[in-house]
Amino acid sequence: MAAQETVDHKYVYDFAEGNKDLKDLLGGKGANLAEMTNLGLPVPPGFTITTEACKAYLATGREPAGLAGQIEAHLESLERGMGRRLGDAHDPLLVSVRSGAKFSMPGMMETVLNVGLNDRSVVGLAAQAGGNERFAWDSYRRLIQMFGKTVCEVPGEEFEHALDEAKRARGTDNDLDLDADDLRGLVDAYKRIFLKHTGRDFPQEPREQLDLAIRAVFESWNAERAVLYRRQERIPADLGTAVNVVAMVFGNLGPDSGTGVAFTRDPASGAQGIYGDYLANAQGEDVVAGIRNTVPLQELERLDKRSYDELLDIMARLEGHYRDLCDIEFTIERGKLWMLQTRVGKRTAAAAFVIAGQLVDEGLIDLDEALHRVNGAQLAQLMFPRFQLDHDFEPVARGVGASPGAASGRVVFTSARAVELAGEGEAVILVRRETNPDDLNGMIAAKGILTSRGGKTSHAAVVARGMGKTCVSGADEIDVNVPAKRFTVAGQTVNEGDVVSIDGTTGKVYLGEVPVTPSEVVRYFEGTLDPDEADDALVKAVHRIMTHADATRRLAVRANADTGADAARARRFGAQGIGLCRTEHMFLGDRRELVERLILARTDTERSDALAALLPLQRDDFVEIFREMAGLPVTVRLIDPPLHEFLPPLEQLAVDVAVAQERGEDVAKEEALLAAVRRMHEENPMLGLRGVRLGLVIPGLFAMQVRAIAEAAVRVTRDGGSACPEIMVPLVGAVQELETVRAEAERIIAEVVGDSGVEVLIGTMIEVPRAALTAGQIAEAAQFFSFGTNDLTQMGWGFSRDDVEGAFFWRYLELGIFGISPFESIDRDGVGRLVRIAAEEGRAARPGLKLGVCGEHGGDPESVHFFHSVGLDYVSCSPFRVPVARLEAGRAAVETVGSDSR
Ligand code: PEP
Ligand code: MG
Repeated sequence: MAAQETVDHKYVYDFAEGNKDLKDLLGGKGANLAEMTNLGLPVPPGFTITTEACKAYLATGREPAGLAGQIEAHLESLERGMGRRLGDAHDPLLVSVRSGAKFSMPGMMETVLNVGLNDRSVVGLAAQAGGNERFAWDSYRRLIQMFGKTVCEVPGEEFEHALDEAKRARGTDNDLDLDADDLRGLVDAYKRIFLKHTGRDFPQEPREQLDLAIRAVFESWNAERAVLYRRQERIPADLGTAVNVVAMVFGNLGPDSGTGVAFTRDPASGAQGIYGDYLANAQGEDVVAGIRNTVPLQELERLDKRSYDELLDIMARLEGHYRDLCDIEFTIERGKLWMLQTRVGKRTAAAAFVIAGQLVDEGLIDLDEALHRVNGAQLAQLMFPRFQLDHDFEPVARGVGASPGAASGRVVFTSARAVELAGEGEAVILVRRETNPDDLNGMIAAKGILTSRGGKTSHAAVVARGMGKTCVSGADEIDVNVPAKRFTVAGQTVNEGDVVSIDGTTGKVYLGEVPVTPSEVVRYFEGTLDPDEADDALVKAVHRIMTHADATRRLAVRANADTGADAARARRFGAQGIGLCRTEHMFLGDRRELVERLILARTDTERSDALAALLPLQRDDFVEIFREMAGLPVTVRLIDPPLHEFLPPLEQLAVDVAVAQERGEDVAKEEALLAAVRRMHEENPMLGLRGVRLGLVIPGLFAMQVRAIAEAAVRVTRDGGSACPEIMVPLVGAVQELETVRAEAERIIAEVVGDSGVEVLIGTMIEVPRAALTAGQIAEAAQFFSFGTNDLTQMGWGFSRDDVEGAFFWRYLELGIFGISPFESIDRDGVGRLVRIAAEEGRAARPGLKLGVCGEHGGDPESVHFFHSVGLDYVSCSPFRVPVARLEAGRAAVETVGSDSR
């Protein structure tokens, strides 16, 4: 920071010296004022103090050497240009001092207007304004108020209070009814307030006012609200703000003056037209404060046709120049139009797509640029049903927005009840402390899932995202009592059957029903809305941009899917295969009993009987999936989680057995079960007997799965279809593990496949750091790698994926240790480095090695760009995120280095 602090370092730029590409240095506002100046548009003259000056000031607590002199020089040239001097008693120049960072942070930092007014120049200002004393004194009182509040931390209410007093004394509640004498009195009252709070008189020296105001703007970069805003918007904390010193123009000089804002298109829908508001005889902050009602911009045509026409002309020029929606602030001073600001305007997700499409039609941008101008987060927003929150709904709790969307329904506490009520046609919300694989049926039946524990990679979150179902997890204000069938929150009790609404995007929980709007964009992806026939501009724009993304991207996109229904949905959403079929999800429900038999088997025969019973069921699962995927690759992962997850919880079982024993009941079976649960209990199951370890320890388990996969592929092929299975071994850390599994698998495959022509690949997940670091060796035995970034993050950071997000990540985010959970977006420097090493070393050992990712990061926009840059072949994500991944893979392919998508 401030390394280049030398006297001759340039800290101040005249508007004529800058341009729109200098946002890093001049901030957004300064860069765009410079651009407009150079376009010859009517911008009041001024200069910009750079973000570097701000950073130097914040680092050292003093202005960098040379800054004061440069300000002096630019001020003099401003004075010369305007023919007025700052604070002059007869014909004063006044300036505004405005913040302006690289990324817009609306209202978060400070502005001081009318700098240069004092007891003498106020008289000159009145003369300059044609004897308008009221205006001059009003401007002066505004300066003291803003300066006091912003620069000297005088409580704003004191000024408000004095203003109210003045209005009361005049018997009005309208500022405009105060006359020059009232305002002169108010200036005295404000000066007394200033003295009381600061111990000094209001500074009369204009240059001192200017320097203090500049300093206050620098410091406002670190104001609490600005820090908070940056964190939320993921704006880096070390950018600093520029400061713009601009000659004042006045919109409050009478009915032929005024101020307004305008958009070159509708920022809500993207529709073309004139959008904006105008307020006659007012300054910008009056619009913000809502003191008087604005009129639609079109009214200006009637009030001041010349200015209106000029404004429309400027708006068209700005759009053509920026090739995008612009928003504009302007002021009219006695019939003369001044441009105070422009920038590429913020817009809704829908408008982003529509406008990008329109600009292509207008020949202003090409399709690559259109693709660059939208993003996956916007597309995701358009795909979720939304709450219509136009009424007053107050959330009662807030958890983690774990799987986006909006859902309302009756509260149920068990999976069985969810299935039952949903069967009766009721919308239900399944509420649990946390979910486990047993809740799957209930989760499928429910419209949404609400848990009081767990983060974004908790079971509830992962499964819900996979299903595209709304989920709020870790809402810890909610106290769930499953046996009593109720939960309490904020002193209220919610019983089974009561209605709640959950917003999986914001994590907010509401009592009662909030109306929901379904998404047209999902209808389009699902194929029930034809984009050519839709009269919806949004659907057409999405279709066009998605088509271009698909044509452009290098990364293939697959889906994580475990059922035929998921596979079918994934294909409709454009998946080019299945990147992860988690077979453990097939061991639930009715099959649990068979798994229990497998675990409790005392003899080889008992074990092989259990496996033999599971085999046809598994085979049917795979047949269904292979049929749906019609020859596209399907990566089937052999069973991963610890087997005791399929047994009842230890504590509950121990209590049941003890109670039954007490009653003298026959509990031999339960005792055997309890003994097995005890035997298999692990302190750290995530690091225990799971994945490949399980396959090496339980004879026949992986063999059964491999056989089911191969037999299914053969059956589908013999039936005239085609199947392309890829068998994936989980949790491999050493090549020897993979070799052992592979030897047996190859033997079975050869035996089953025979001359059917079916080809089965065998590969591995890379999800243990050791696997990434020995990828060169592992690649010798693997035909493909799929990065399991959930476990790689868990083991790379040593963060339990089930606990940490809810437990302490808030503090890490607050401290800026990371800007976003590494479970959500790949940690490029650490976990990403493991991926890069493994990709490079894997491909060095086996050229052309197929590489994919199937952890949750596969559907995260930022992470997709990373995977593109590492050279993976595909990403795999939940079916509902497939369109987002397609779009982002396209963007990654067209993105130019250093482009700025914010
Ligand atoms: C992973 O670890 O990233 C992965 C895909 O496997 P799972 O989430 O099932 O552990
Ligand atoms: Mg894993």
